Amino acid sequence: MVKLPASSLTTLSTHSTLGTIQAFLNKLGLGQNHYILSLWVFFAACGVAELCISFLICTPLERFWPLTSWQKRNSIAADVSYAFFVRIVLFPLIAYFEYNWLRQSLEGFLRIHDLATPSLSRLLPARVAWPTLTFVLNFAVLDLADYWRHRISHRVSWWYGIHSLHHAEEQLTFWSDDRSHVLEDTITYVWLIAVALVIGVPGMQFPFLILCFRLLGSISHANTRMDYGWLGSYIFVSPQFHRTHHALKAAGRRSTNFGTALSLWDVLFGTARFGDHTIETGDAGAEPALVNGSWGEQQLAGLRRMMRLGRRSKVSPTRTAS
Ligand SMILES: [Zn+2]
Ligand SMILES: [Zn+2]
Repeated sequence: MVKLPASSLTTLSTHSTLGTIQAFLNKLGLGQNHYILSLWVFFAACGVAELCISFLICTPLERFWPLTSWQKRNSIAADVSYAFFVRIVLFPLIAYFEYNWLRQSLEGFLRIHDLATPSLSRLLPARVAWPTLTFVLNFAVLDLADYWRHRISHRVSWWYGIHSLHHAEEQLTFWSDDRSHVLEDTITYVWLIAVALVIGVPGMQFPFLILCFRLLGSISHANTRMDYGWLGSYIFVSPQFHRTHHALKAAGRRSTNFGTALSLWDVLFGTARFGDHTIETGDAGAEPALVNGSWGEQQLAGLRRMMRLGRRSKVSPTRTAS
């Protein structure tokens, strides 16, 4: 059976779910490698469940409170492919890598050297270190780390080349959240896993923090007039706040609103832009394959642009966008 630290109800229920998946896989005659397979099935099921929640929230928002409509709707096949690729392949891979390999290697290393496992909750007084508060604190720190990763990706020319795949979307909807180059995904998750291990995010919490980011990310990309009100918009990234980041004129170095889930970081670091009323999105320098190509064509076009902008690294990507 899978050995998990039974330190919390969440861990226990995860343990029991994994046991059920293992029993099911055994019945199907997939006993070999059942541990790896059951973790994969568990993470993929969580990812697809999150996608269903995003769909159930965002579809009514886009249907009944749309921000804009398009005379000719581009195919969303590539964006839908990204969404399922992330939930079924990338997310389980990242979660497995973080949970079953890196984390256990780190904990083994710390144990051998008699070192304490890092944990942000130790900074809190014991009486207020509730699991929910620790979860929120870890969420905020990871979001801050992602704010800086995203902001730097707009400053480094070759990096913006691959990030521009995300910005090339001209018909922004909630499906656009996962539209990202695999190379950029790799950089993002290596960065987030490193930060999560340094701040001591507990076992099994990291995948669920990532799913929270995905859910809020889907909503912030939705084509909807809905906003979070004056106060909410200063704390959370609303659809209009993130649309401003996707504005045609803001592609590349001139962009603002880099927050992933919390707009608070943009407010604190002076990159917030409110009241912009952006509707049109895209990147004028993106080649057609980057805008409306298939999944593979977009990936190749992203690599081409990364190399092109990398060679012109002294020049702003907004001016070399060709
Ligand atoms: Zn960006
Ligand atoms: Zn975006």
